[in-house]
Amino acid sequence: MLELRNYMETLVWQNVDEIVTNNHGVCPCEHCRYDIVALALNFLPPRYIVTQKGETWTKVKALEQQFYVDVVTAVTNAVTIVRSRPHHNRPEE
Ligand SMILES: [Zn+2]
Repeated sequence: MLELRNYMETLVWQNVDEIVTNNHGVCPCEHCRYDIVALALNFLPPRYIVTQKGETWTKVKALEQQFYVDVVTAVTNAVTIVRSRPHHNRPEE
């Protein structure tokens, strides 16, 4: 069974917890974390890979090294935006 995945999404989810923890003042609730991930993914180019059980690890590790700095930069920028205007506090919601 083959699957098409945006590897950037995996990489952002892997790093968001640590970056949120290290940026005091940003709301850690689920809604804000999803907002951070969505914003970060809008900054990043998608990197689609075809995955099949057990055969993707080497490719994924190579991608992780290649894009790690870009992902951290994008998530950090997203944290700054969400911290300045948290989505959950908008009165219209
Ligand atoms: Zn929040």
